[in-house]
Amino acid sequence: MNPLNQDVLVLNSDYEPINICNMKRAIGLIYLGKVDVLHSDHMEIHSCSTTMISPSVVRLRYHIKRPYPRLRLSRRSIFARDNYTCQYCGARSHELTIDHVIPRRLGGRTDWENLVCCCRKCNIKKGDKSLQQIGFHLTHPPRRPKWVPFVSLTKYVDGQRNEAWRDYLPYAGGWGAGAD
Ligand SMILES: [Zn+2]
Repeated sequence: MNPLNQDVLVLNSDYEPINICNMKRAIGLIYLGKVDVLHSDHMEIHSCSTTMISPSVVRLRYHIKRPYPRLRLSRRSIFARDNYTCQYCGARSHELTIDHVIPRRLGGRTDWENLVCCCRKCNIKKGDKSLQQIGFHLTHPPRRPKWVPFVSLTKYVDGQRNEAWRDYLPYAGGWGAGAD
């Protein structure tokens, strides 16, 4: 893989993950002395004047204070929050849909606390019945994610598969632990 296509995890000075940037931007930050490299991928990047080892995780030398962005409710953000897993049977599937836990017919709202990722099978089975009626249980109670470290929640979830990054990323299941 071309290391220039790799994403780089950017941590605040207190190790809070705040961004994912591309390699070119990360190298720029290194050259400007704005970040320290915490992990590298051990791939060499050649430029006209120099060779360097591709960074994977960098940490800012100064602290960035920023307002936490509000995460927009969308199908994709629900999928990402629920880690592309059916919240009833635990299946990871490409055929995922969104289910209202309390059906709209019964006054269920379209919000973070009432929408979950659901496989087609469970969705068909559940129809517009309540959990009690159908005997389904939620694997995780749905909540609004407490904070969003990056612009892209999808990238964040993908990043959890990166071993070097994992130490710095709070587990997705830990989101929403506090009131928003
Ligand atoms: Zn299911």
